[in-house]
Amino acid sequence: MAAIFRSIPRAFRGYLCTSVPLSARRFSKRADENRTLAGKVAVITGSTRGIGFAIARRLAQDGAHVVISSRKQENVDEAVAMLKEEGLSVTGTVCHVGKAEDRQHLVTTALKHSRGIDFLVCVAGVNPLVGSTLGASEQIWDKILDVNVKSPALLLSKLLPHMENRGGGSVVLVSSEVAYVPVPKLGVYNTSKTALLGLCKSLAVELAPKGIRVNCLVPGIIKTDFSLRVSMTFAFRSHSSLLSYRLGEPEECAGLVSFLCSSDASYITGENITVAGFSPKL
Ligand code: NAP
Repeated sequence: MAAIFRSIPRAFRGYLCTSVPLSARRFSKRADENRTLAGKVAVITGSTRGIGFAIARRLAQDGAHVVISSRKQENVDEAVAMLKEEGLSVTGTVCHVGKAEDRQHLVTTALKHSRGIDFLVCVAGVNPLVGSTLGASEQIWDKILDVNVKSPALLLSKLLPHMENRGGGSVVLVSSEVAYVPVPKLGVYNTSKTALLGLCKSLAVELAPKGIRVNCLVPGIIKTDFSLRVSMTFAFRSHSSLLSYRLGEPEECAGLVSFLCSSDASYITGENITVAGFSPKL
């Protein structure tokens, strides 16, 4: 038995040791009943509308305190007011994920509610370019990579000590099906979303010894302002390889994220999971 354990790479030994015993998980599931995330704190970027808002609502319905954020104060105020009206436990703050001072402020806001943070869901993403990949300026490359790829890692580095305080946690990144099936004229965006699949795998291995799981939601075409903007400027829907029998609703992404945060997903990390109705190429 000892020999088998020694043959497991060092990085994974900590993960095996920090996993919650089965009996404890059964007990906590019974105690929480329908509120699987009770007592937990979740930070969600880009969560004032669309997929992020649906995830915020779902995690709060499942018992977590949720810290909502996005670039515009009025959007934050509106989203917080709407969810508070539903009796949910939420606070909010402005956070443009590409700005270091905003990321720090988001962490500080979350810590006002509790001394630790359990979940980080990185939803914020941008696509300012519809056009040729090689025609993209350096500023466009920087903007897309800063917001879509670098900011989740930089924000997580700030949150990490506070997740470690809790003895573990769950991180969910948000990629896109275009990571696998690139859409013409969205080359830089496609590339950023493929990079997130790799970031998910790397962080999962790196953080496993700390009991922190990292997974990635990979949505197909979901009915939001974002997909509407893209389809207005570009024939997104004519890209038949991305079309399932219907478009998705933001709420259809939220259940998976709640599951990935819950103890039911305690042995799931480093996975890129598609929510797209049907994925012929995957
Ligand atoms: P959406 O409806 O346009 O919502 C975007 C949210 O992000 C808003 O709350 C917006 O609020 C916020 N936001 C935008 N830029 C931000 C920034 N730099 N920092 C912080 N917050 C920012 O978009 P969505 O369709 O839900 O998309 C969410 C994520 O899913 C994106 O990463 C996108 O790439 C991905 N995705 C979407 C689809 C789809 O079909 N919709 C498919 C695959 C993947 P403010 O304006 O106040 O900042």
